[in-house]
Amino acid sequence: MSRSELRHAQSPQAALRAAQELLLKLRSDGLTWRQIAARPEYAGVTAGMLCDLSHGIEPKSDETRRRLKLSTTIVMTEQRVCARCSRLFIPNVPWRKLCPICSPPEKR
Ligand SMILES: [Zn+2]
Repeated sequence: MSRSELRHAQSPQAALRAAQELLLKLRSDGLTWRQIAARPEYAGVTAGMLCDLSHGIEPKSDETRRRLKLSTTIVMTEQRVCARCSRLFIPNVPWRKLCPICSPPEKR
């Protein structure tokens, strides 16, 4: 994962990454998901959704996405071309560059 990806501040991927990094920061500050969900900026968003988002799993509802200041584009369902074999795939996390065949998600 490269930090330089965050500099593309306008892209849906960057908005997702920024929301994710913010959550991870709050977690590293020692807050529980419930405590984070209780913050005013996350009103109407459940602790489970925040936890999912921290793992790169996007909320699907427009209402939740609006609250999290994500674009209405669902980043992860966009097809992407694998950087190694050029196969089309749907990334399970937004920063994935290789298809699951070239780079299986759970293994090295
Ligand atoms: Zn591939």
